[in-house]
Parts: sequence; C-alpha cells; structure tokens
Amino acid sequence: MVKTSPDVAGPPDAPCHLTVPSDLPLSGHTDSRDPVLLAGTLAASMEQLARIAVASTGADGAVVALLGADRRTFQAGSIAPAWMSHDSGILIRTGLIAAAIEQGGTLAMDSASEVESDHGRRVLRELRVGSLLVSVMLREDGTVLGAIVAVSTNPRTWSEERVSVLRDIASVGTAKITLRLALAEREVREQRLRHDSQHDALTGLPNRAMFLKRLADASLRARRGVDGLFAVLFLDVDDFKLVNDSMGHHVGDEVLVEVARRLETCIRGGDIVARLGGDEFAILLERVADARETAIVAERVQEAVRAPMTISGYDWTSTASIGVALSTPGSEAPEYLLRSADMAMYRAKHQGRGRVELYDRGQHAQALTRLKTETELRRAIEREEFELHYQPIVSMGDGRLVGVEALIRWRHAERGLVAPNHFIPVAEETGLIVQIGRWVLRRAISELGRWERELGASTELTMAVNLSAREFAQIDLVKVVADALSGSDLAPSRLNLEITESTIFSQQNVALDTVSELKELGVQIHIDDFGTGYSSLTYLQRLPVDAIKIDRSFVRAIEIEARSRHVVQSLVSLAQGIGLDTIAEGVGSDGQVDLLRGMQCTFGQGFHFGKPVPGPEILQSLVRRADGVGMRRL
Ligand code: C2E
Ligand code: MG
Ligand code: MG
Repeated sequence: MVKTSPDVAGPPDAPCHLTVPSDLPLSGHTDSRDPVLLAGTLAASMEQLARIAVASTGADGAVVALLGADRRTFQAGSIAPAWMSHDSGILIRTGLIAAAIEQGGTLAMDSASEVESDHGRRVLRELRVGSLLVSVMLREDGTVLGAIVAVSTNPRTWSEERVSVLRDIASVGTAKITLRLALAEREVREQRLRHDSQHDALTGLPNRAMFLKRLADASLRARRGVDGLFAVLFLDVDDFKLVNDSMGHHVGDEVLVEVARRLETCIRGGDIVARLGGDEFAILLERVADARETAIVAERVQEAVRAPMTISGYDWTSTASIGVALSTPGSEAPEYLLRSADMAMYRAKHQGRGRVELYDRGQHAQALTRLKTETELRRAIEREEFELHYQPIVSMGDGRLVGVEALIRWRHAERGLVAPNHFIPVAEETGLIVQIGRWVLRRAISELGRWERELGASTELTMAVNLSAREFAQIDLVKVVADALSGSDLAPSRLNLEITESTIFSQQNVALDTVSELKELGVQIHIDDFGTGYSSLTYLQRLPVDAIKIDRSFVRAIEIEARSRHVVQSLVSLAQGIGLDTIAEGVGSDGQVDLLRGMQCTFGQGFHFGKPVPGPEILQSLVRRADGVGMRRL
C-alpha cells in the first residue's frame, strides 16, 4: 500500500531541519506522474522492508517512509495493524526523523510519552502507538532518503540488538530502494523522451511523426474494413507571419498555443490534432460518414479559430485557411492524404483568407507536374542548362539597334528549348528564381562585354534584364546588381532592369526605396508589360523610373482598332509629359511602325525588328553594322 501524505505542511512544533537533496526522485514528477509504476516495484520493496522490520524486531507494525524532494511529503509503505494503517505517513511528521538524526541515526523510544512535542504525542496516541524504534535511511553521501519506524502498541524496552538489527535493515533497504528509485526515474525519463519525440514542445500537441503514425493506423483499419472513412484537415493560420514579425515571437507563440487549445475543443475522443510545424496544424477525423460531415467539422474549427482572443493584452482575431481531404475506400498511402489536404489548403489560401476547401483530385495531376518541374529546375541550375537569347530593341525614329533584352531559355534534355513562361512561375513560387536571376544578370552583362571585346568597339547597346517580384524583394538585390556590374567594364547606365507593375504593386512599401537605390547605382529602370497590371499613375509619379514598355496586347490592335490607338497614344503622351521613354512591345508590322512613329513612341521591340536570338547572332549583326556604318573603334 502506498500513500502520499495529504497534508504537506508539517506541524509547527515538528520542524524538519534536514538536508535533503532536491533531486530526490520521489518529487512531484515521479509520484504524481507515474503512480502505477511506484505502486508496483517501489511499493513492493517498501512493504517488504517493513515486513522484515516487523519480523526481526518483534514489533507490531512498521512504516517505511521516503522523504519527498519538497522535504515535507512522504511516501510511505507500511505493514501495520489495521488501526494505524489509515495514514502511516503521518507518523513521520512528528519530528521523529529529526530527533533520530540528532541521536546518530536511530531513536529508541520505550514509551510514546517520551516524545517531546505535544503534536507528536497526540499523533502517537491517536495511532495507539505505545513505543517505537526509528532508524533513519541515510544515503552514502549522508543525505536522508527516509526512515523505517517499527512500532508496538504497548510500551516496551528496545534491546541494543533490536536497534542494531533495524539499523542494518535500514542500511540494506537504503541501497535497495535507491536502486529501485533510479530504475523508476530512468523509466520516467524514457517515458518523457518517448513523449517528447512525439509531441511538439510549444503546444504539447502530437507532432508530425505521431500524426503520420496515427494516420497510418487509421488507413490500415480502413483497409481492413474495420472503420469507415476518415479525413484530414490541414490548417494554416492566416497572416501569422505578420503577427510574428510585427509583435515578436513570444506573441506569435502565444497565438499558436491558443489556437492549439481551441482546436482540441473541436474534436471528438479518438480524433487527433497535431502541430506539423510553424503555423500549420493537422486534424485527423476518424469514422466520418461523408464529405458533408467533414465540412461541418471544418466550419466548426474555423469558428473556433475566428473567435476573438486576448494575447499579451491585445485583442486578436485570427482566421485559418483549411484544406480537407477525405479518404477513399481502399485508400492510398497516408502521406498522400496529408499532402492532398495541404494542397487544398494552399488553394483555400489563394482564394482569400478564412476559407475551407475540399481536395479535388484534379489538383493532383497539376501538383505532380509542378513538383516534377521543380525537381528538374534544381538540377538545371546545377548543370547550367539555361541560356540567354537576345531580342533587339530599336529606335523608332531611324530603326537603329539601341539595345537588347535578355530572355532566358531552358535547354531541356527531352523537352528541347523551353520558354520562360513554362518554368519562371514555378521558379518564382519555389524561390529558385533568385539563383536563376543572378545567373541571368551576370551572364547578360558579361556577354555584352564579350561582344564589345570581339568587336573592339563600344556598341553603346543597352542590356535589358527582367527581374521577377521575388528577385526584386531580395534584401541584397542592390548589392547583387552592383557586384555583377563591378565584374565588368560596363557603365551602369547600360543596364536596364525591367520590373512589372504587379511587382511594384505587391511591394508598394519598399518599391520606392529599392528603385531609388538601384537608380543611385546608375542603372535604368523600365516598367515592363505596362497597362496589364494595376496601372496606378501614383507610382509613375513617385518612382524614379526611366521608361515604360507598352504591353503588346495594346500594340497588337493599333492598326485596326481606334480604341487601342488612343490608348497607346495616351500612354506615349503621358510618358513623354513626365519625361519617360516609351518602348512598344510586340511590334509586328510596318503599319504599326508608322503609327508608333507618328505617336512619337521612342523605341520598339517585336518580331518585326527581330526575334530573340542566341548571342552569336546578335554579334554578327553588330559586326555587319560596324562594317556598314563605320563604327567608332575603341
Ligand atoms: P517580357 O519581359 O515581356 O518579354 C517579352 C516577351 O515577348 C518574350 O517572350 C518575347 O519573345 C515576346 N515577344 C517579343 N516580341 C514579340 C512579338 O512580336 N510577338 C509575340 N507574340 N511575342 C513577342 P519570352 O522570351 O517567352 O518571355 C516571356 C516572359 O518571361 C518575359 O516577358 C519575362 O516576363 C519572362 N522572362 C524571360 N526571361 C526572363 C528572365 O531572365 N528572368 C525573369 N525573371 N523573367 C524572364
Ligand atoms: Mg521584359
Ligand atoms: Mg514585356
């Protein structure tokens, strides 16, 4: 029988001024966390010890009590007459251990009336203890483990022999119980490790590993036909990054913990909520009837997240984007369902915040293609499978070649030459564009330098390089551009960086700084595909850009549609009015050239002037031009 003294505070007249190490295993952890364990081996050892004490001292009963790390509570195992077993630990709280220590580790009291404190005498009277013999259990380092108390109902004289026998029992018992405690502690530690490896430290929720295991179990049961359908909800807290960045990680952490607690309230027993990492959570719903039922739970989850929360004194309202995937009879691998829910979540996120989306099998093929392109792109970067083609940009007035635009191509082993529209979006999404873009920048600049060395003359050509939104957002963009230029003899003004309206729009807060810094380097900034994005005239007014490239969708129809003609004319006039150059994209005919010239459009680019071609072809036309017009030799 094991008992923990319910009243932890000792009586005032029984101070326990002992040195007890605070790492005693019987601290809060051990006894409260694993009563089963203690009730097993440790309790058995304590009872056995008590039994031996009774047998070898001729006492009526005995109590083995271990002192807790708080130095106040006791774990007691007793073999005692029924009248005292109701709380044998109480015996120890009479100041007996302290008294025994003072007497060198043992205390023989022939009559309970000898006990000094009133409280002690009262307790002994209540327990009907007539006499007692105490032997302190001291560890090798002199710290107290506990004590063995042998009691008799009547006063009696404890012989020297009995005293020494109990001392021996205490000594052997100390070794034995210390060992037991060490084992118990190890077991608890291992249990904790097992727990930690399967749980998230911040929220205490199961982690991804455990979630996948539970998912695997569910899918196995479903396959055996034990349970019906099950579903996975993939949840991502909306705009969490904003909270984290603006309010600090500790606030972010509190939000996550609060979300975790709320998610737990939304599920039934048997279901599981896990934190997959960051602000991503997953819920496994077992035994669901159909998609409708799952959607109801998803809505409930959404509601729970949406309720206002107070964190660090601030009121927050969060929403979550939730993707739902339902198992199919004879379902696929468990990871597949999680990935499907993830994909649905991604779609939910893109359709706006706070939405629930059900996974649609059609998404899968699309995701696979995307994944394949991503893998291949990584390899392409390593193997340098990219090349640049250059498209002429000419002066509208005299048709003179004034510059080129570098356009990337991917020389793919099976697919041949792949156009940028087929891989730039994936590169952008995955961030691979940053590496690719740096390569383009360096290559374009060095190629122009090479042409000039071959010609032995300055071409005065400008080199236009496209920057995607992600590249434009790189914190070290200005340095990257500066480094690329410093490795060449090219004047910075010969480099034109093309950014689109949507790039500027998506980074309104920093666009002005970035553009200004780039301008300070001396490079030119052109707005690409002008008219197709959020054509806000505000940024034209604010940003120190040099030119706009009028999108080819406007240029295409200027010969046949008066509307298009007016639009292009207005754009050219507007640009001119604020001192910007205009470059008409997609110029395809003489008629268009005439019209654009009449509108005083500065430059033109399009198949009419030349398609994008590899570097050597540009070089050849430069050689012809040099021969024809007798260029200034360097
Ligand atoms: P963009 O910057 O607007 O480039 C012009 C695109 O229009 C090029 O397509 C070019 O071949 C095409 N084009 C030019 N003239 C004509 C014409 O007369 N008719 C027609 N139908 N098309 C014409 P491309 O090379 O396929 O590039 C597509 C887009 O990919 C580019 O549009 C640009 O946004 C992006 N891109 C290309 N290279 C890079 C790069 O190195 N980095 C980044 N970030 N994006 C790039
Ligand atoms: Mg461009
Ligand atoms: Mg363009």
